[in-house]
Amino acid sequence: MPLYTSESIILKTSDFSENKRIVIFFTEKKGKVPVVVRKSKSKKFNFAAIEPTTLCRVTYFGKENVQLFRFSNSEIINYYLPLKSSLTLLNYSSCFSEIILYLVRDFDPNKYIFETYKNFLKSLIEFKDESNTINLIFFISLIQVYKSIGIYSEINDLCHMCKIKIDGNKKVFIVERGVVCNECIKKGNYYNKSEVSASSIMFLKTLGNSKFHVSTKLNINPQSRREIFDYLISVYKNYTNREINSLKVFREIIR
Ligand SMILES: [Zn+2]
Repeated sequence: MPLYTSESIILKTSDFSENKRIVIFFTEKKGKVPVVVRKSKSKKFNFAAIEPTTLCRVTYFGKENVQLFRFSNSEIINYYLPLKSSLTLLNYSSCFSEIILYLVRDFDPNKYIFETYKNFLKSLIEFKDESNTINLIFFISLIQVYKSIGIYSEINDLCHMCKIKIDGNKKVFIVERGVVCNECIKKGNYYNKSEVSASSIMFLKTLGNSKFHVSTKLNINPQSRREIFDYLISVYKNYTNREINSLKVFREIIR
């Protein structure tokens, strides 16, 4: 039976039966892979190596076309301990993991998202004491993931209908195809629209063009921070039709 080994981040674990768990690994080589793990009574079994938000090297096996693989072993590369001992960091990482879990499909590898995810977790720890910075890292990483999947419309400061520059205090909307001004929004039928301020548009434009760490000095005002957060979450919701479980607690931290 073929044996596969890949660096991976654990997205989720859940009970399968009394002595089995299903662990969803986001592997570098094969994308999202569900694996059945038999809970071993042996003291040698390292449960930390199948805990969510852990970077590991997993080995699993199964016939080529099965939907569920079987676990051989997992070796921890990075346990990301600080992410598990701080409520704030835990919320960021859980929310991000949940988004990845439902955005990427099984057995559909995406090296770019894998690297973005790894970078995101590493950076949360690196900047754990700077709340503004981890917030920006969250936004930038999320935009990068959305772009990679093709569900993010380019944000710039022109109405994509009338091409007029978005200015100051007027209402602006983000729809699936981009930014729309207050006049044009009345002419169209938009199913999903988010109302944001002009300054949020400017921040989103910068964040969307940022490489990791480049705009971590950006100082986003609280109103825009909320609007950007809500907008980015709405992109996920519109695409998946799902709520995010960890969101309620998380929102308190963002505000
Ligand atoms: Zn317009």
